[in-house]
Amino acid sequence: MDPASCCEVVDGIHLMAGLPDWMFFSGIGLILTLSFGFYFLKSKPAATFRYDLTRFTFIKWLVTRRWFQFALQLPVLIIFLIILYAGFFGNSRINIAPALTWTIWWGGLIFAILLFGKIWCTLCPWDMVASVLSRLKFWNVGIVNSSLNLKWPKKARNITLAIGLFIALTWLELGYKVTASPFATAVLGLAMLLMVVLPVFLFEKKSFCRYGCLIGRISGIYANISPFEVRAKDRNVCLSCTSKDCYNGNENGYACPTGLNLTGLNQNTYCTLCTECFKSCPSDNVALNVRPLGADIIDYPKPRMDEAILAVILLSLTAFHGLTMTPMWEDLAGGGDSIIARMNEFFGLGPLFSFSIGMTAILLIPYLLYHAMCWLSSRLSGGAVSTREVFIRFAYSLVPIALFYHLAHNGMHVAMEAQNVVPLLSDPFGYGWNLFGTMGVSYPMLMGDQSVWLLQVATVVFGHVLGIRIAARAGEKMFGHGKKALIAQIPLLLAMVIFSFVSMWIMHLDMNMRSSMM
Ligand code: SF4
Ligand code: SF4
Repeated sequence: MDPASCCEVVDGIHLMAGLPDWMFFSGIGLILTLSFGFYFLKSKPAATFRYDLTRFTFIKWLVTRRWFQFALQLPVLIIFLIILYAGFFGNSRINIAPALTWTIWWGGLIFAILLFGKIWCTLCPWDMVASVLSRLKFWNVGIVNSSLNLKWPKKARNITLAIGLFIALTWLELGYKVTASPFATAVLGLAMLLMVVLPVFLFEKKSFCRYGCLIGRISGIYANISPFEVRAKDRNVCLSCTSKDCYNGNENGYACPTGLNLTGLNQNTYCTLCTECFKSCPSDNVALNVRPLGADIIDYPKPRMDEAILAVILLSLTAFHGLTMTPMWEDLAGGGDSIIARMNEFFGLGPLFSFSIGMTAILLIPYLLYHAMCWLSSRLSGGAVSTREVFIRFAYSLVPIALFYHLAHNGMHVAMEAQNVVPLLSDPFGYGWNLFGTMGVSYPMLMGDQSVWLLQVATVVFGHVLGIRIAARAGEKMFGHGKKALIAQIPLLLAMVIFSFVSMWIMHLDMNMRSSMM
């Protein structure tokens, strides 16, 4: 495609040109130079700056209102119901459900997480329905608790279910192409609602949010980079507290839905920003802090194998997401030169089968590469650190690479496609209405191609540098100082450079726009 023009329509397929060569090579040059520069600098601990927003009386007043979360969730629930109605009862081909869900919500979610952390959980409409139905209260604390309060099965107290759901959603989204179907989009929304609501009647607190929710777990691991956190103002006050109201709940606030205790809370992963602890703490000891980007993840306090696996899978699937939108992966105009077309020819079992094989391969390749580099690193350290430990500790440095590539990719979709929602606002169900006079009007993109490309390069490079900083810190903690320690870290540095190179290369390829598929 002509790199001078950002978008082309070929046989009804909207194509966006990938990064021009000079931007691609500059990006790669920056990644290489900054990698070595930052890696050999002395690693620094996370910055300790914090500013508690509840010092503002209005913010404190807001987060301590019982109706606060309900008031935020209600408009989102209404939009969710509109999506369900459009999907089930609207025009079966074109209505607002896919654009609102996949372009605005799914595309924009990643920006919301970077800026505000677990804000989606605060707004979550599925959680709202689950809370109201199980408590029989809109927002007040009540005595009704219709849950059987079973413990979540011991063997499942990890995030394997959430990882499995994430892989399944990616397969449905990209392989089964639910993004193109209003009906399938609504079915998925309803399935998500049932997955959140049913467990609250069976298990204690919000166990599904803690262990099973793919949105909660993905946003959880990413939220460790965000500039907001809920924390104890003074740890000593928590240590001397015997009632642990944040954990147990009281007449002013429900128990923490994910079973957190402010005494030891030092990461964002499992906090849903529900604000119950602001209401329940009798000592007014809960802060809503603003902090530097990446504060939790630079010295991640409790690394775990299941979270490490999620980090690697996030990296694979976000890159896979980008790759599947290129004509190289699948030529929507029907050309026979794409990866899918070649696999179809080879296996002869149809595009969904070929897609599944391709997806499995792309899930496994980065995982195996990362594992091999961890093994090599462990060997180079003389076996001082096991492969398993290297795998767990270093995986958190992949999180910013995945997040910022995710941002670069989704930013392109939002900038180039968000305007498509405006006409649909006039006819959300595809009934032929023109409520606001926006039907048939063509609206400009939010951003031009040059700005999108520059932002994409800057975003990927920033994510890489943050990842290197985290890796350098983890490396120093594991291997110590000196020549041998530095040599042991080289395979991991190489893995990170390869991952960022692949991100940049995918952005260099032309891209099929979602509007082609809707
Ligand atoms: S964890 Fe999932 S279900 Fe729970 S509040 Fe967050 S998005 Fe909603
Ligand atoms: S109650 Fe728990 S989940 Fe809710 S804001 Fe407090 S720590 Fe976070």
